[in-house]
Amino acid sequence: MKKRILTGDRPTGKLHLGHYVGTLKNRVALQNEYDCFFIIADLHMLTTKYQDLKTVKQNINDLVLDYLSVGIDPQKSNIFVQSLIPQIPSLFTLFTMLTTVPRLQRVPTLKDVMRDLKIETASLGLLSYPVLQAADILIVRANLVPVGKDQASHIEVTREIAQRFNSLYGEVFPLPEVLIGEVPTLPGIDGKAKMSKSLENAIYLSDDSESVLEKVMRMYTDPTRLRPTDPGHVEGNPVFIYHEAFNKDKEEVADLEKRYREGRVGDVEVKEKLAKALNGFLEPIRAKRKEYEGRPELIEKIILEGSERIQAEGKETLDLVKKAMGLKYFD
Ligand code: ATP
Ligand code: MG
Repeated sequence: MKKRILTGDRPTGKLHLGHYVGTLKNRVALQNEYDCFFIIADLHMLTTKYQDLKTVKQNINDLVLDYLSVGIDPQKSNIFVQSLIPQIPSLFTLFTMLTTVPRLQRVPTLKDVMRDLKIETASLGLLSYPVLQAADILIVRANLVPVGKDQASHIEVTREIAQRFNSLYGEVFPLPEVLIGEVPTLPGIDGKAKMSKSLENAIYLSDDSESVLEKVMRMYTDPTRLRPTDPGHVEGNPVFIYHEAFNKDKEEVADLEKRYREGRVGDVEVKEKLAKALNGFLEPIRAKRKEYEGRPELIEKIILEGSERIQAEGKETLDLVKKAMGLKYFD
């Protein structure tokens, strides 16, 4: 049997370059080798966004469109919506017994999210975010979870829950491994540590070439450099992090870095070349998006078929779980 992958996204907006290097690239690369499950985590969305939900359906459609545009193939991979799978909250309830409140309070992303979104007190739902994620991953008994670095501490919670379950009730779950993307966390165009849908600092996979140029030209760069003749910093400079991640012309990148360090190139040239490289990278993604745009019935079909498959998997897993725990009254 093929090993399994589970990963996904919250339907809080369109996908960006950070998602690509953090997880999408690995998803596309591994979809032949693994049985893949991609979750659209609308329940997780509610942990921080529970008001004004008019755009959720559109967001879900946009996510699927993003997946298809980067080359996720619905013939090979299952795309599903979390709230269509009743077995996930059932498993979540059982898992809440296997982890403690202080353990969840120590998860570093909780503090980051509360700081970024100015949340004073976490709701029970936000605190238990990683437990719900454990239910997503383990409902399909996944072996591998390709995610950005911010999620690594969550997968640790999943492993602890799986281990605790197995030692209490018998081997039901694999211990899933985390797979971090080649750029663990892509910074935002504002220089903040993480490009994020919620922080308005993203270049989207669906941006047109003018918006890409406009965003790149106002990108945060080395604040210590006032004139093109000042020696600049390349390390940790988002403009160069993007060049290294997306510019295929490695000689051009090396030349720009050298001249930047020596104070022999202006920011305008570095940024114009970056915009060109990004647009070159995005062009095939835009072309593929055009093939699927304006076909909502196709997207609905993909979600329905994917969700049916997970419901079947979910029933099987819950059956095993309840049997192992001795919770099964009827056979
Ligand atoms: P939100 O702001 O709503 O939390 P997000 O941009 O953080 O949105 P998520 O849906 O939370 O996106 O994350 C989806 C996946 O993409 C996760 O695996 C996450 O680790 C990864 N990811 C998101 N942003 C980045 C980034 N800037 N660099 C690398 N990986 C990222
Ligand atoms: Mg996030």
